[in-house]
Formats: sequence, structure tokens, C-alpha cells
Amino acid sequence: MKYYSTRSQKITANAPEAILKGIAPDGGLYTPMDFSEMQIDLKSVLQMSAVEISAETVGRLLPDFAPEEMRALIEAAYAGKFETEDLTPVAKVGDAFVLELFRGPTSAFKDVALSVLPRLIVASREKLGVKDEIVILTATSGDTGKAALEGFRDVPGTRIIVFYPDGGVSDVQKAQMVTQEGGNVRVCAIRGNFDDAQTGVKNIFADDSANGWAAKSGARLSSANSINLGRLAPQVAYYFKAYADLVLTGEITLGDEVNFVVPTGNFGDILAGEFARRMGLPVARLVCASNANNVLTDFIRTGRYDRRREFFKTNSPSMDILVSSNLERYLLLASEGDFDLVAKLMRELGQNGVYDVPQSVLEAMQRRFSAYCATDAEAAETIGRVWREHGYLLDTHTAVAWTAMEKFRAECDNGCATVVLSTASPYKFSKDVLRALNGSAPEDGFEAMDQLHRLTKVPVPANLTGLRGRAARFDDCIDRDQMNHYVQKAVAE
Ligand SMILES: *Cc1c(COP(=O)(O)O)cnc(C)c1O
Repeated sequence: MKYYSTRSQKITANAPEAILKGIAPDGGLYTPMDFSEMQIDLKSVLQMSAVEISAETVGRLLPDFAPEEMRALIEAAYAGKFETEDLTPVAKVGDAFVLELFRGPTSAFKDVALSVLPRLIVASREKLGVKDEIVILTATSGDTGKAALEGFRDVPGTRIIVFYPDGGVSDVQKAQMVTQEGGNVRVCAIRGNFDDAQTGVKNIFADDSANGWAAKSGARLSSANSINLGRLAPQVAYYFKAYADLVLTGEITLGDEVNFVVPTGNFGDILAGEFARRMGLPVARLVCASNANNVLTDFIRTGRYDRRREFFKTNSPSMDILVSSNLERYLLLASEGDFDLVAKLMRELGQNGVYDVPQSVLEAMQRRFSAYCATDAEAAETIGRVWREHGYLLDTHTAVAWTAMEKFRAECDNGCATVVLSTASPYKFSKDVLRALNGSAPEDGFEAMDQLHRLTKVPVPANLTGLRGRAARFDDCIDRDQMNHYVQKAVAE
């Protein structure tokens, strides 16, 4: 199967190459164009377990891996890691459905993909005959770092170094990272903010000498961020899984269309929904939910993408993004493969911070996507109300999506069953969730977790309760300009 750089039809890769490279040499993202060989037989999905659905969908998307190989890879990736065999269960809440993507080892939806990506990287490395150890560098504002650490932990042939901003992540997120187990992991704080950490990592990737010193130590630097095709592919599975659950519980009939409401940041999660639709899933509308950083809401409504606006730090920090990188892939699909257009739009975004899509692209997008946004205050109100009315506890990101669903229904109820994707355990954001229920919360994140549990009796995920009192393994803290040296030393060890 051929994957094209979004910015040039001439730049292609097969699946192992795309996964090992991460990003195309021209800065584009590797994307499949033709889904006709990737159709999923819905009826057969009804008989499958969650792991089987994952193997089937990832295998269709990445057919360079043989079915048996993919099946073994996916089984190993998820074995014993998730709270339920179901991986991503569906809960009925009022007259809607919540797809719980947070039942993995770090209680965040990124676990779904980051459990699989390390194994795809290792398998790609073998297929391409690369002998070097793969060293993953990740800058994190909290969630991705932990999910990546857990995903790469003790995966042979890989090593991972995570940088986080000192004082810039929550107590719980810090505890999650510095207590990380595994022989191939390392965690380091940066004196600075998230951008400093991120820029430091980008500078290492851009450093011409880096490939040289890495190769000398038998290593190759790589990244685990969400533009990698190997992170996108595993996310398609839960759309099919949710659909099968609704059919099997009699909520819908096979063939009925369903709406999905997706709390969106980098557009990876919701793009996986569009891939699922192109692979044969009956999707009515994909509803893009944003917080106060509502650049996507404006884009989907008007066709103008304008990042020249104030950046807000919200209570749904994983959605605090002004440049949604995966949108680039959708632009290629919506323009029916107009590579030159995508290259031009991305140039305009880089140079001017704004672009307008042609009317045809806007119409194609609006046929499938709706978009709504919610403020912190609206999301907090939603958390309180859904708890009181339905006894279901939403996290701050899911609350943005629930609020978007309500606005969508008020404006254009199409009568289809609606699934809200839930991306984090409420206990990952205990302070804000407790404040939404109670009006106040203690400063300490673990105390807030206790109080939230006493108030709601909703079980706390074991990976979070187990953190307290666990000894920190990592206490490195460096300046940004020391990062390059730090990585060189670590790689040479
Ligand atoms: C990453 C993340 C999102 C956004 O997902 P995208 O694929 O970037 O759109 C939403 N919620 C949570 C909790 C996340 O960690």
C-alpha cells in the first residue's frame, strides 16, 4: 500500500517506512488516498472481540503487515493493559452513549494508540532491516508523556526520553511520570514551559549532527507524536467497536447511521472517525468539539483557518491547540487529492497564520462535519448537571464534547443515535471536576482525588490510586540549552 505525503504526490512510502519516518521529508503527513481495498465487513465485526476488531481495522489500513502478524502484534500490545477485555466500552447516559476511551494503563485515550505504536515501530524496523535502537524523544504537557512511557516501557529495541516543563504539569501527572517503571525509560524536567521543552526536542531533530552522533551509538532518533500514521491507525478500531456494541445491544439496527461527537485538539481522534466512515462505517455526522481555543469551530463553519488569535489555557488542556496538525490529512481527502492546494495552504499557514479553502472543499467538509465549542464555565455546568441527572461523571474534555452534543441537537437533531467520545478519566482532572460539582477543591491533586471519590463513589482507576507513596525514580531537571547534551549522553550510555 502506498501512502502519500499530503504536500506532494511524488513523495510516497509504504507502511513501515511511513511509521519509522513519522513525517515526510517535505514536512507533509503520510496519508492513504484510496480506501476501496480497506472496506470492513460490518456483519463480521459484530462477531469480533475488541482486539480482533483492532487487528482487522489496523490490518486493513496497514496491509504491508500480514494478517497473522498484525493479530499477534495487536494482542501483545493490549494484553493485560486495559481495565476491560472490551478495551473501549460504551456506557448509556440519558439518551446518548459515551464511548470510554480512558480504560487504559494511564487513564487517557492516548493509551489506545500508544500501546500499539511501539510495536509497529519495532516491526517496521525489522521489515526494513534497520539495526539501530530507536530512541523516542517526546516533549509533553502532561498526558502524552505518560502514555508514551507506558507504551514503550521494556519494548525491545526501543528507548524513550520524556521532557516535561518543571512546575508545568499537575501533581498527578508528575507523579505518573517520575515513578514510571521500565529499563528503557527516562524522564527529565526542563526549566521553562511546554513550548521550551517542545522547541528543545524539535531543535535536536533539526540538528544535522544528531543523526551522526546517534548512529555512532547505534541509535536512531524518532518521535511518538500524533502525526505518525502508526498512531492514527489504531484509533479507527473503536469507532467500529462502538457501532457493533450499539447493534448488539439493540440500540440500532445494522446499517443505521450514527453521530460521533469528538473532543478535538490535533484532529487525530476525529480524523480516525472519517477514516472509519471511508472504510464503510455508517456515520451520519462527525461533530468537532472545541474549548475556548475554537479555531476549528470557526474553520468548519466558514472555511477560514485563522490561528492569529489569543491562546487560552483552559481546564481541558489536551485540547489547547491552535494548529491542528492532522487537519492537513483531511484537507487532502476533502480536496480529492489536490496536493498542490494542501502545500499552498500549509505555506500560507506558516507565513501568514491564516488560509481560506475553496468553496468545494468547504462544502465537502460541511457535508460530514459539524462544529461547536464550549467555554470552561459551560463545561463545568455540564459536569454538574450530567452528574445530578444521570449519575455519570464526565472529565473536563468529555464535558466539552457533551456540551457540543447538546448544541448540535438543539440546532439540527437528525434523529440518529449519538456517541460522545470520552477521552480521559475524571480523576485525571480531579480538581476541576470536583470544583464543578462542589464549587471548591483543595490545592493538592491527590486530596482532590480522595474528595471526588468520597463524594461520587465512582471507582478510582488502579493506576492512579497506586501512585501515592510510590518512590520517584527520576529527578533530573535541566535548562533547555542542555537538552541536546543530555540526549547525547543518554544515547551513548
Ligand atoms: C489528546 C487528547 C484530546 C485531543 O485528541 P486529538 O486527537 O489531538 O484531537 C482530547 N482529550 C484528551 C484527554 C486528550 O488527551
